[in-house]
Amino acid sequence: MNYFNQEIVLQSDEYLGEDSRVYCKNCNTSREWISEDGEFKVRCLCRCQQEKQQELEKQRQDMIRLEKMKSLKEFSLLGRRYENSTFDNLDLNRPQAFTKAVRRSRAYCDNWKIVKSQGYGIYIFGPVGTGKTELVACICNELIQNLVPVIITNFLEVSKKLRDSYNLETETENQIIDKLAKIDLLILDDIGSEILKNKQRESFMQEKIYDIINRRYINKMPTVFTSNYSIQQLIDERGLEIRTADRIAEMSNAVMKLDGTSYRETKILKEKK
Ligand SMILES: [Zn+2]
Repeated sequence: MNYFNQEIVLQSDEYLGEDSRVYCKNCNTSREWISEDGEFKVRCLCRCQQEKQQELEKQRQDMIRLEKMKSLKEFSLLGRRYENSTFDNLDLNRPQAFTKAVRRSRAYCDNWKIVKSQGYGIYIFGPVGTGKTELVACICNELIQNLVPVIITNFLEVSKKLRDSYNLETETENQIIDKLAKIDLLILDDIGSEILKNKQRESFMQEKIYDIINRRYINKMPTVFTSNYSIQQLIDERGLEIRTADRIAEMSNAVMKLDGTSYRETKILKEKK
């Protein structure tokens, strides 16, 4: 048979099969496809060429994924201290409340689709050094692995950024607030540490804090909070406005209290022995 009277030019890794089709010497599958009626044939990839192409495509996708993860990581504002914190490398030799919180935080990430659609939030509180920031860093890293945009910050940082926005040519105040209000997951670390620190700026920041939290509340955006204080203490001891605390309470579907001896303390004590 000679299709369309075309001349067949064979490459060095090809041979002509008994059915007059071109075959690959390497995988012995054809590089030509013939229509059922035998009327025409076209060049196609043999099996090893297809596999090679799939491998290249996979590498390309992996690269894109890695690039996305890298930029999400930068965007998340997670500091270098916690950049490698994951659920898998957490030291679980800690109080029961902590391991329980780890399980729940993991479930939170595993069920991200539901969490996102329902706007579920978490409030984690307890004394200094009980692993709150480490725990939320794990949530942050786990979700970034799944390409979910996350920002982890605290209001001291936000306040500094807002101040810079008036002096430096960086983002505007609205852009900063907008970013925090719209990000898929916002993790507000150490809430309550900033309140009342600077009386002059207090009412301004209270307004901004309420604005961000209220916008997330209205739009059912998942938010995770950590604090050294309970929500009631935020009002009583830290002077947070009741309307803001009310929102936080309503947004926190799970409230986890980390107590027991401070992990840092026990670690230091153990090392001293
Ligand atoms: Zn082949």
